Amino acid sequence: MTPLIELQQIRRTYTSHDVPTRALDGVDLRVHAGEYVAVAGPSGCGKSTMLAILGLLDAPDEGAYLLNGRAVSVLAAAERARVRNREIGFVFQAYNLIGDLTVRENVELPLVYRGMPAAERRARAEAALERVGMADRMEHLPGELSGGQQQRAAVARAIAGEPPLLLADEPTGNLDSANGEAVMELLAELHAEGTTVCLVTHDPRYAGHAHRTVRLFDGRVVSDEVRGNGREQGIGNRE
Ligand code: ADP
Ligand code: MG
Repeated sequence: MTPLIELQQIRRTYTSHDVPTRALDGVDLRVHAGEYVAVAGPSGCGKSTMLAILGLLDAPDEGAYLLNGRAVSVLAAAERARVRNREIGFVFQAYNLIGDLTVRENVELPLVYRGMPAAERRARAEAALERVGMADRMEHLPGELSGGQQQRAAVARAIAGEPPLLLADEPTGNLDSANGEAVMELLAELHAEGTTVCLVTHDPRYAGHAHRTVRLFDGRVVSDEVRGNGREQGIGNRE
């Protein structure tokens, strides 16, 4: 079966003040549709870089990224944006909502870029906001909401287009435990409905939602474990 995600020898080096930092140093990864993968490792090990590459928000310097068998790391910017818009939902630690758009407008925005008709867009955004328990806050601005509410709105934005792949980079990092729990519960539900989820988290409570944990250290994958039946080098690495 073709993996949903395949990274082959991904390298990414950032250079600031003339000092190169190798954020990813030859990462191989396969994730099949329907998996829920936690990405773990100490601060600075490359987790966000890997997720940004998976989300087509950043591109590797070397290596290949195949999404559903298609080489996406080599696409032109406009085509990458199109793939990202249709295939990938991304949830950030800092929510990243647009401050002068209402919650509903924020959720509709990716659908605007898809060219979806206004009525359908609105219906989808409202359904997504209903889903995350934010239907009564649709006309609020993000600044009028708590962190937990903003993150739920951000999850609605990520899922309104029903992407097959949901990426979340420390989505509970700024939340108290009750709100963190609610967001993680949502991700688990989405996974149960068939969405493939890759989650960066430091919190062992939440890492347990995933069935597989990929650990990075110094820009390399140092372990890849499937929970439950003791198999190592998890199902994502099977053909
Ligand atoms: P993590 O999410 O695991 O904490 P990151 O992927 O954010 O790690 O960062 C990996 C390494 O790359 C770190 O050493 C970090 O300082 C460096 N890095 C990340 N982004 C940049 C950037 N835009 N410019 C320079 N260095 C960066
Ligand atoms: Mg990070």
